[in-house]
Amino acid sequence: MENPLLFYSTNHLAPVLTFDQALLKGQAPDRGLYMPEHIPVIAPGLIRDMKQMPYHEIAEIIIGSFLKGVIKEHELRALVKDAYNFEVPLQHVFNRTYVMRLDQGPTASFKDFAGRMMGRLMNHYLSLSGGNLLILTATSGDTGSAVANAFYGFEKIKVVVLFPTGEVTARQRKQMTTLGKNVQIIGLDAKFDDCQALVKQAFSDPDLDYLNLSSANSINIGRLIPQIVYYFYAFARLSNDSPGEGIVFSVPSGNFGDMMGGMLAKKMGLPVRKYVIATNENDEFPLFLSQGKYHKIEPSRNCISSAMNVGHPSNLARLTALYGGDMDEKGVVHRLPDMERMRQDIFAVSVTDEETRATIRSAWEKYGLLLEPHGAVGWRGLERFLETGSPEAAPEQLCVTLETAHPAKFPEQIRDILNLDPELPPSLKGLEEKPEHYDILENNYTAFKEYLKLKY
Ligand SMILES: *Cc1c(COP(=O)(O)O)cnc(C)c1O
Repeated sequence: MENPLLFYSTNHLAPVLTFDQALLKGQAPDRGLYMPEHIPVIAPGLIRDMKQMPYHEIAEIIIGSFLKGVIKEHELRALVKDAYNFEVPLQHVFNRTYVMRLDQGPTASFKDFAGRMMGRLMNHYLSLSGGNLLILTATSGDTGSAVANAFYGFEKIKVVVLFPTGEVTARQRKQMTTLGKNVQIIGLDAKFDDCQALVKQAFSDPDLDYLNLSSANSINIGRLIPQIVYYFYAFARLSNDSPGEGIVFSVPSGNFGDMMGGMLAKKMGLPVRKYVIATNENDEFPLFLSQGKYHKIEPSRNCISSAMNVGHPSNLARLTALYGGDMDEKGVVHRLPDMERMRQDIFAVSVTDEETRATIRSAWEKYGLLLEPHGAVGWRGLERFLETGSPEAAPEQLCVTLETAHPAKFPEQIRDILNLDPELPPSLKGLEEKPEHYDILENNYTAFKEYLKLKY
C-alpha cells in the first residue's frame, strides 16, 4: 500500500498521526485539531464522471483519497455502501438555485453523514486491533441521537448519552431512548451544561481509564472528512459541464464542521466560486472576517436555530490553519490568516431570528419551499449574497444551499410560522409506538461515576 497521509495538530505540539490513529484519539493531546498535511486533489475528469455515480461511490473516492494505505479498497467500499443507504435530494427552486436536503438519514439531520461514517470506521479499526471504546456524550438534542444511531449495534463500541430531561423535545428523546442494545441513555433533571460538566469530569477521572472513553464529538477528523463528499456530489449532479462552470454554496453554520468540509472540497479542486457562511445571531465569524479581529461570544446567544448556538466555533482553528494562520483552542489568534484570500472565498453573514422566521414564511409562500430554522438561515444567507450584485451572484450562477435538518424535527416552530404540520420522514415514523428505555440519575458526579463502574 502507499505511504499513508499524515495528520498534524493545529496547535503544533503533538506528534503527527495516521488517519486511524487520529480517528481514535479525537482531539490531539495538545488540545489542537487534526488536519491533513497534504490535501489530495481530484482531477476535473473524475469530478465529471461523478455525475453518474451513486452517492456511496463518490464517498469512496473522496474519503479514500485521505485513507490511502490505512484501509483496503474493498473494506472502505463495504463501509460507505452501508453508511449511505439513503437519498440525497437536490430540490430545484428557481433559475439554477437548488436546496440540497441532507435530512434523509436515520435521525433526519446532516450529522448522520459524518456520524455514520465515523462510527463504521472506528468499529473497523477496533475490530482489527481487538480494542473497544465507550462513547460518552452530552446532548442538547440532535447530537445525542445522531451519535447513538451512528454507533448502534456495534460490538466493539458502547454508547452512553446524557441529556437534560427538561430541555429536549419528546421526539428528540425518543430518537435516542427507543434504540436499546449497546446504547444507554441517561436523563438528568439539570441543564445541558451540567450534563456536559459530568462528561468532562469523567474524561479526566483516572479511575475510569479502564473504560477507554471517547467523545466522538464534532471535532474528530473522522467526522470532518465525510462532510466533504456532498459538495462534490451536488456539483457533479448539477453542473452543465460548460467551460468555467463554478458553483456557490450556502452553509448554515454553528461549529463550522460542515463549512470546513466545503473548504477542503475547494482545496481538492472543486470549482467553488464562493462559500456563503450563514450564522445566526452568534456573529463572531462575520465580524472576524470583516474586521480582522476575533472575539468569541460568551455565553452564546440563544436562537431558534438551536444547533448553531455557538459563540466560539471549534473548527475556526482549522479554517485559520487552512489560510496560513494560527488560532488555539481558546480562540487566541497567534498568527492572522490571509484575510484577503479568505474574503475572496467566503461571504459571511449573520441572520437574526426575526429574519429566519420571515424567511421560512417567504420561501413557503413564494416557492412552496419548506425550510426549518437552520436551513432558513442558509437560504437567507444566499439571498443576501445574491443581493450584493457581485459577478458570482449573476442569475445564471449555479447555487446550492444546504438544508441541514428535516422540518418535521421542529414541528412547533413550523406550526407557529406556517400553520401546518410537516409530514414525518420515514425515519421518524413509528417512533411514538416504540418502547422507551432510559435511566434517571441525580445531577452529581459520584452517582454518575458509580453508575458507570457498576454497569461497565
Ligand atoms: C450541527 C448542526 C448545524 C451546524 O453545523 P456545524 O458543522 O456545527 O457548523 C446546522 N444545522 C443543524 C440542523 C445541525 O444539527
